[in-house]
Amino acid sequence: MERPQEIPIQYLKGIGPKRAKLFENLGIRTIEDILYYFPRRYEDRSKFVSISKLKEGVVQAVKARIKALGERHSWRKIRFNILEIAVADDTGQLRCVFFNQGYLREYFKPDVRLILYGKVERYAGNLQMSSPEFEIITNEGDESLNSGRIVPVYSLPQGLNQRLIRKVIKKALDEYLPVLNDFLPYNVRSRNNLLNLAKSLINIHYPQDQVLQKEAYKRLSFEEFFIFQVPLALRKIKKKELPGIAHKTEGKLFNNFIAGLPFKLTASQEKVIAEIKSDMARPAIMQRLLQGDVGSGKTVVAMAAAFIAIQGGYQVAFMVPTEILAQQHYDKINSGLSVKGSDLDKIKVVLLTGGLNYQEKNRIYAQIRKGEINLIIGTHSLLEEKVNFSRLGLVVIDEQHKFGVGQRSLLPQKGLKPDVLIMTATPIPRTLAITLYGDLDVSVINELPAGRIGIKTLSFKQEDKKQAYEIARQRVKQGDQVYIIYPVIDDSDALDIAGAKKMYEQLKNFEFRGLRLGLIHGRLKEKEQQDLMNKFKDVELDILVATTILEVGIDIPNATCMIIEHAERFGLSQLHQLRGRVGRGSKESFCILVSDAPTEEAKQRLEAMVKYSDGFRIAEEDLKIRGPGEFFGQRQHGLTELRIANPLTQMQLLKKAREEAVKLVEADRELKEKANSGLKEKILQRFPEYEKLMVV
Ligand code: ADP
Ligand code: MG
Repeated sequence: MERPQEIPIQYLKGIGPKRAKLFENLGIRTIEDILYYFPRRYEDRSKFVSISKLKEGVVQAVKARIKALGERHSWRKIRFNILEIAVADDTGQLRCVFFNQGYLREYFKPDVRLILYGKVERYAGNLQMSSPEFEIITNEGDESLNSGRIVPVYSLPQGLNQRLIRKVIKKALDEYLPVLNDFLPYNVRSRNNLLNLAKSLINIHYPQDQVLQKEAYKRLSFEEFFIFQVPLALRKIKKKELPGIAHKTEGKLFNNFIAGLPFKLTASQEKVIAEIKSDMARPAIMQRLLQGDVGSGKTVVAMAAAFIAIQGGYQVAFMVPTEILAQQHYDKINSGLSVKGSDLDKIKVVLLTGGLNYQEKNRIYAQIRKGEINLIIGTHSLLEEKVNFSRLGLVVIDEQHKFGVGQRSLLPQKGLKPDVLIMTATPIPRTLAITLYGDLDVSVINELPAGRIGIKTLSFKQEDKKQAYEIARQRVKQGDQVYIIYPVIDDSDALDIAGAKKMYEQLKNFEFRGLRLGLIHGRLKEKEQQDLMNKFKDVELDILVATTILEVGIDIPNATCMIIEHAERFGLSQLHQLRGRVGRGSKESFCILVSDAPTEEAKQRLEAMVKYSDGFRIAEEDLKIRGPGEFFGQRQHGLTELRIANPLTQMQLLKKAREEAVKLVEADRELKEKANSGLKEKILQRFPEYEKLMVV
């Protein structure tokens, strides 16, 4: 017998080439695909309500026959079509209206029998349903699938209807469940009280009752998490075993660096540095993700790690997403190295960005290759082929969410077996982080340095923008500085958006006349950007008009006010990142969002910004607003594959799946045991690249 994952759906009765094509557009090619095409929702049709018993305001199902139909048009701004039908059962009549669905007249003929499902409302004294879900009963013999039970409702394109897909799925269940093998090992299932596969598939499509539907949902979600976690767990084990550098963690450089800091480390920073130290000391590769809110002081931690590597004679590559951030790190590190007699002044640091000319680059490449440079700070230009290290011992990737997954893994390949520290300021809840970045270890900085007053976030309508400018003027008067952020460089008429360039001219000549303004955006040359940032840092400018080029990393404590115009155009975590540019010193700071939020989602984002200042909390809100698919899609591929499991609402289940995955690969990493053979096949089917990993 062939296996369901290989049998095309044409083998099912009722599916010819034309329908097969429609199914293919949904990604359904095989019997297995269709069994895993889960309902979008359910309708409880275990009870039909007689028309005379219908209750106002309640969603109910009715089975009735069309008595009459009529059509009219109405004008309200635009012309629209109203199709009305009167349906009846033995107990009474009900009116149903459909808007702009004139094509339905083809199907709605007197005497046609229908199932209608929707909310009953009162209109002009009578009960009616407006635009109810409906199904035409064509063949009474099919009725057992479509009524008298909890009925599945699928997302479907034109050309496929609910009745057809229900029938096809039922057929697939009847014919293939008996041969379907449950690839979840029995002991995993029993430890976690999971239904077997056949029972789950039946009850996800045709739930016997709500309890079984929930159980089926749990089992199938677990399965998704598990298939995703096994390869991660395996990858993590393998990485741990790869021989790496055993760094010497105690030494003069490291100690002098810590001793020379102008502030006391927070407890979180101390803890994280200890975690990194112990990783680096081990003769295995460090793969650590450091999560910490904006302004929590991740750079110092990264520098501490850098000095550990450098004091042992290794090179460090520090990759950041923008050139101005690279420059900022470079300046800061250099100024911290001036301490005489500390050996810190012997460290050679270079800046490698795209803006350097050919000769400068070549000279730096040569120095890196010869090992004359200890610390290389740069943008993705570090990834260029010509960059060859002599003794790369540590890679730091700052603001990792700005790099693609592919880019991130390129740099470590350049070294012998360098340790890797990845930093991010868009944190996700810890349980999620551990499971989702399952092959990394996770450290968290969960406090801000003492003395921060916090940022007041205000939300203004466009028409009240003047007030925002007034606050800005006052900040400048007391010697502080201001950022004003725009979503685009040039105006966009289509979107009715003011751009940074034009607004800069206007603000300079009108609203902020007499103050010193600068304009910075990504189209300026690196040198020009740098000059502007330097001027701003040296307080030769009061106000910096900018695009999102300032989103990450910039650290100028004297800037205490940020105005974000068209705030509705930014994502939530992006807004939080931008806001993180202020409130970095001990003065009170303001973040002012200016917008006319046009959508419900935009409104939620702005409200979350006003309400929450903690990045972890913001991330959770972002997840709720956008949903896991969107939210994780950009962070970690593989998660977009989740069809029914939801990492946010099923965090406990995800954790369980994670634990089971670790247990499994620890016991049988090649999945050689007979009990694991089905699972192995499943994982290879989903992640073919893991074949290589399985080899010891
Ligand atoms: P982020 O985590 O956003 O990258 P940074 O590393 O840029 O944050 O640190 C933000 C600011 O806080 C910097 O000016 C840094 O010097 C300062 N800082 C870092 N750690 C401490 C501390 N323990 N106490 C006081 N200030 C600190
Ligand atoms: Mg940073």
